[in-house]
Amino acid sequence: MSRERILLVEDEQDIQELLKFHLEHEGFAVTAAGTGEEALKHLATQNPDLILLDLMLPGINGTEVCRRVKSRPATADIPIIMLTAKDSEADIIAGLETGAADYVTKPFSPRILVARIHAVLRRPDPEPAGSVATPAIHIGSLTIDANRHKVEIKGKDVPLTCTEFRILQLLASSPGRAFNRQQIVDQVRGESHAVTERIVDVQMVSLRKKLGNLGDWVETVRGIGYRFKEV
Ligand code: CA
Repeated sequence: MSRERILLVEDEQDIQELLKFHLEHEGFAVTAAGTGEEALKHLATQNPDLILLDLMLPGINGTEVCRRVKSRPATADIPIIMLTAKDSEADIIAGLETGAADYVTKPFSPRILVARIHAVLRRPDPEPAGSVATPAIHIGSLTIDANRHKVEIKGKDVPLTCTEFRILQLLASSPGRAFNRQQIVDQVRGESHAVTERIVDVQMVSLRKKLGNLGDWVETVRGIGYRFKEV
């Protein structure tokens, strides 16, 4: 079996060397790049099995590298794990919206990172979404129209990402019913990029914000996950 190839994009020399050492020890073939430019140059001729991408890079930043990788058909399917600082939630959300598979916040243990890499590489390819027409959901002033992929509050458009839309659709399909994170992940998995349980929490923050006054209709169920309020 050939070794799985990882492109490691990290400008800090110490971290780059440490990660390369651990990943090679785990049996991965690692190519390191110190800048986004270098990474994109490598990707023009090579398709690794996974990209580890630091978000804070000199020159082209990680979010932009992620966007370019995902918008180019030749590289769009390569999973990306972002390496981020703890306080960069906006960057994490931006990265996930452009299609990153997961993220790890610094400082992290190489062991945890390796576990995440294995989890992402094991994920099955997403299945194409079905084309069956679904009736729109109306709850109070909220309308969710799956066929037009539109959400409206009092007739006003709420711009949601694909992932946020599918999460809201799932919860609102059964108000009062609690869904655990794995069920939510399964619902969203049909999209072009993979989602992990941890990412569900980040998506919820963003979804609630976009729903404005209705944000608290998405309730946290302690120890389980989330549910849509019975209104
Ligand atoms: Ca950096």
